[in-house]
Amino acid sequence: MLYLVPTPIGNLQDITLRAIEILKSADLILCEDTRTSGVLLKHLGISRPLKSYHAFNEHIILAQLIPQLKEGKNMALISDAGTPGIADPGFLLARACLREGIEVQCLPGPTAFVPALLKSGLAADRFVFEGFLPVKKGRKTRLESLKTEARTLVFYESPHRIGKTLQELSDFWGAERLASVSRELTKMFEETKNGTLAELAAYFANRAVKGEIVVVVEGCSS
Ligand code: SAM
Repeated sequence: MLYLVPTPIGNLQDITLRAIEILKSADLILCEDTRTSGVLLKHLGISRPLKSYHAFNEHIILAQLIPQLKEGKNMALISDAGTPGIADPGFLLARACLREGIEVQCLPGPTAFVPALLKSGLAADRFVFEGFLPVKKGRKTRLESLKTEARTLVFYESPHRIGKTLQELSDFWGAERLASVSRELTKMFEETKNGTLAELAAYFANRAVKGEIVVVVEGCSS
């Protein structure tokens, strides 16, 4: 059995009781960075074998993991933070398991885009999660193709690019579109700024921003 186990995106109290139980009983915990996850597991008093599973080795180690899962080993996949498979490795392993008839369970739990979407005050009944925009190649094409998207749009963004990205979104999609920037969700310096794209672009222009960021933008209304 493969368990996809969400871990906190900041506040350690957001781990669920079930996540702790699954991690305690796993034969092997797959994690992006054994040092990062080691800190969380130590905090939870969990000592299980760890193996690194990240974007750079996931293709290679799939072939080792599948036979072990077929033999009956229980594995838990965690990422550095949030839900594995959401802008993080996980999809390839889940797909390979399902193709091989191995059961996959995904526990509900922390992920950054849900609180950001709800704190934006924008329509949450229908939305699209776009993860990270392409940094260079394909960026303009993506922005063009999303321009007429009617559902609320959700992106992950780095603090270094947030000012530039908001200005681009304002230029491509219109200065008056409503948007929201959530930073450091569940952490000490959590902050959400709501406004038009032009207002947010002005606020974040040339501002040294730290931390992790989710951007939410109103869908196209025309
Ligand atoms: N798997 C994670 C999830 O379920 O949300 C996402 C991992 S992705 C590699 C990391 C990005 O998620 C960050 O760059 C940021 O955009 C977003 N993120 C993660 N934690 C966050 C937080 N506490 N506050 C705001 N955004 C966060």
